[in-house]
Amino acid sequence: MALQKLEKTYFGTNGVRGVSGKDMHPGFALGIAEAYGTLLGPGKTVGLGMDTRTSGPSLGAAVKAGLCACGCNVIDFGILPTPALQYLILSKKLDGGVMITASHNPPEYNGIKLIEADGTEMGDERTIDVEQIYINGRKKLADWDTQGRLSEDFEAYRLYIDAIVSAVPAGVGTGFTIAIDPGNGAACRTAPEIFRRLGCTVEVVNPGFDGMFPGRLPEPSEEGLRGLSAAVVNSGAAFGIAHDGDADRAVFVDEKGRFIDGNIALALLASYYAEQQPGGEIVTPLSSSGVIEAAGAEFGCSTLYTVVGSPYVARTMREELAAGHTIIIGGEGNGGVIYPKHQFCRDGGMSGAVLLALLSTRKVPLSSLIEKLPKYTMYQEKRTTSRAKEITEHMKEYFKDLPMDTRDGIRITKGGAWALIRPSGTEPLIRIYAESRDAAEAKELIGEILSEITPFLT
Ligand code: MG
Repeated sequence: MALQKLEKTYFGTNGVRGVSGKDMHPGFALGIAEAYGTLLGPGKTVGLGMDTRTSGPSLGAAVKAGLCACGCNVIDFGILPTPALQYLILSKKLDGGVMITASHNPPEYNGIKLIEADGTEMGDERTIDVEQIYINGRKKLADWDTQGRLSEDFEAYRLYIDAIVSAVPAGVGTGFTIAIDPGNGAACRTAPEIFRRLGCTVEVVNPGFDGMFPGRLPEPSEEGLRGLSAAVVNSGAAFGIAHDGDADRAVFVDEKGRFIDGNIALALLASYYAEQQPGGEIVTPLSSSGVIEAAGAEFGCSTLYTVVGSPYVARTMREELAAGHTIIIGGEGNGGVIYPKHQFCRDGGMSGAVLLALLSTRKVPLSSLIEKLPKYTMYQEKRTTSRAKEITEHMKEYFKDLPMDTRDGIRITKGGAWALIRPSGTEPLIRIYAESRDAAEAKELIGEILSEITPFLT
């Protein structure tokens, strides 16, 4: 059965986040850790990681306290990317994990992401279990003789680097210069080393851990990557790569320093695997551009659409694999890509290695690979409203004669265009997307939707 979203109290699609010292503080982190430790039960071992945010140490200490008090052992892996923690949980056969991160959010934010024993982000059902233990105060603290043990392993991230380096052909970066912007975040520990190990010459901007994020914001936006673009041009790099604060996402600039849309990047990364495994499947959310499906179709690969959010993509990939299908790649148009032969979570480090492998195979500049892709135009809008669900119901009725998918808001197709009208899960917002190969058609469709929902916005 296709996955549906379930409503949660504190957690969003990718963990719980808030402003440090206000709604995200050690007292809250302690409560969530005690609830998680209660869910796991005594004697279990949990990996802990964090990004470079200033409140990481205080929140991490609270998480350790809560888990140990419930009888869980904690291995502190220090600062490392979220996918590195996920890889360590899976490969070291731990019982779960906690990542202290607010991902791409501004520096004042921090958050908690819970990881399952298989390295995936915790799904809705178990997250609701954790929330219910916290809300109802049903924590179970361990007695003095069953308290959890605390240990540290600040070198374990090297296993993650090894795994990425061995996932692409040896020496694939020989002769390439790559510019890297880890943005003073967790990727400082891994990204330059990954490319050096692949044989590249590397040029790094914003290289050191710094929770003040002096170089740019944790979100790798086009505007924030001007320094990276300049480094690419000045060093003659084949491309530039930038990560968000916890490096589960990667975004790229081409050899001319131009920002690459995340949908285009996913289409290219998918084409690397599609060429190797023609006839396989790509898994991506309903909000993704048709360029991804088109890139796969060139090699006879099909595309399966899920509700929006990387945990849903990851779980659908696993279900499809279990049903005997060949899944080549999964991901979102925001730079979060999942490589099923590596692990079932978004991995920004892997994206860099795979793009390098693609370039070494095709032997043309990145910009010419992009030019060969079919052109799509996507318009995206968002409107503040407390009536997002009402709007969705209205639009369902308005478009009732068109082909429609209602798993996550509504997605309709009209002529050569599609549109998605989707209430935000965490904010009083409605998001609208419309795309077509014909820009005028996409513009007309989003205009039609915006004028139809206007009466609900007052
Ligand atoms: Mg992230």
